[in-house]
Amino acid sequence: MTEQQLVKEVVIVGGGTAGWISAALLVKMLGKSLKITLVESEEIGIVGVGEATIPPVIHFNEGLGLDEATFLKETFGSIKLGIQFENWGQQGDSYMHAFGNFGKDYPFCTFHHFWLKAKQLGLSDNFWDYSFNYQAALQNRFTKLDSIPNVNLQGLVYAYHFDAALYAQFLRRWCETLGVVRVEGKIEQVHTRPDDGFISAVQLQSGEQIKGDLFIDCSGMHALLIEKTLNTGYEDWSHWLPCDRAWAVPTESVKPIVPYTRSIAHQAGWQWRIPLQHRTGNGLVFSSKYWSEEDARAHLLANLDAPALAEPRLIKFRTGRRLKQWHRNVVSIGLSSGFLEPLESTSIHLIQSGIIRLVKNFPHLGIKAAEVAEYNRQSQLEFEHIRDFIILHYKLTQRTDSKFWRDCQQMEIPERLARKMELFQATGKVYREQDELFSPIAWIQVMLGQGMVPQDYHPIVNALPAEQLSELLSYLKTIYSATATKLPQHDEFLKQFCQSDAMNTA
Ligand code: FAD
Repeated sequence: MTEQQLVKEVVIVGGGTAGWISAALLVKMLGKSLKITLVESEEIGIVGVGEATIPPVIHFNEGLGLDEATFLKETFGSIKLGIQFENWGQQGDSYMHAFGNFGKDYPFCTFHHFWLKAKQLGLSDNFWDYSFNYQAALQNRFTKLDSIPNVNLQGLVYAYHFDAALYAQFLRRWCETLGVVRVEGKIEQVHTRPDDGFISAVQLQSGEQIKGDLFIDCSGMHALLIEKTLNTGYEDWSHWLPCDRAWAVPTESVKPIVPYTRSIAHQAGWQWRIPLQHRTGNGLVFSSKYWSEEDARAHLLANLDAPALAEPRLIKFRTGRRLKQWHRNVVSIGLSSGFLEPLESTSIHLIQSGIIRLVKNFPHLGIKAAEVAEYNRQSQLEFEHIRDFIILHYKLTQRTDSKFWRDCQQMEIPERLARKMELFQATGKVYREQDELFSPIAWIQVMLGQGMVPQDYHPIVNALPAEQLSELLSYLKTIYSATATKLPQHDEFLKQFCQSDAMNTA
């Protein structure tokens, strides 16, 4: 093996959320054996949206060794217990995709089967009575609680809302103290090796060249290395997910700061509302085929709950995935690797799982085809599973008030998703495939929440007489709601645990 094949110098192109998250994990895990340089251009800037996350973000930050309170302070963060979906099944409907377990699973039989039988018998009505996260969210309450005291039940499972641009800046400061070298400048040329097409260096406007063995493309939708240089190709998924635009606008903060994201469906798209400590992030994701940019903008502005703090900003995107996330000596992470709309807040997660996967498969002795293929296989499956979960929300609508929703109902869906829906409808069963991100309880909530009622439940449930089933459900319901009532208000938790200094002086 020659010296040249060893990977010792990593160049990260881009300093948005993807760039700095990637730099952070690399320097933390492999910083002793790598030289890490990050190039970014203030003139080009970052996409600057992306404020809601899912629970694995907590483990990622813990892995880096970040202090949670400091991180939340610095990013004006708040707590997220789930996503409330409004007007998705039918107009006027509302349900929550709450994080965490529901009720208590039995050996070989998950809780929802017990609830399905109880529902058939008229013993229970609302599945969300058995979600501790939902009960707490409903009352705007939160504290850090791993389990409910004295009973063997899971506590609150949470993620964060935060200002993603501040997260990147926070990580930048942290990375620079650990030795990541940041270079400011606009890349104008990319040099490749004539023999194998691998990238050898990026060249800035100033003429400076930055050489590397491995390049991480975090250049966002520019996809400067993976696409503009290597022409890797893109698989377009807009026939399944037709939204291709978003208007984003911040508004003044509204009290109380609710501990959940809101996703409100409109005539040809949906609106997000994400409460931070100092403001609320809002946006409207929509399909330009069904809704003009001007009308969508006006609709968003008419549906804000507080004065706007800036002019709405339009972001265009194309849903899909890069054909290979890793090609030659370029690994694409973040928006350069593909785009899935933020309906289930998965982009920052995809960045984190992408860089974790690279660390696990780090090619320190040289890039091996088998390792690249495995990386790409895992990344592709991960993207597809999330894509299917997002399509589910559109496919399962019963709305007929616009052509957009009627077309969503009628569209052909991926075969794997069709199988999953059919199985649940017929049997109440849902299985997690391989390392799929969303657990069965996430799927169950969306399917039940949007009106899919299974025809059957598992027969293990019949071992429990109806009277005991009723007692069990009323016990769980009482515990969840009584415990939630005793929790501090979310606003109070933020004030005590992580109030941003700017809020203290406001
Ligand atoms: P960018 O932020 O665009 O960064 C690109 C970087 O590359 C910049 O630093 C830029 O300067 C640099 N660059 C580009 N070209 C050059 C060049 N020639 N020379 C030098 N530097 C260059 N994710 C979530 O998890 N939750 C959400 O709620 C969420 N909401 C979203 C809402 C919308 C409407 C959109 C579009 C995305 C949302 N996302 C969300 C996704 C999230 O915004 C992105 O995943 C995240 O910001 C990562 O962006 P990035 O770092 O890949 O790209």
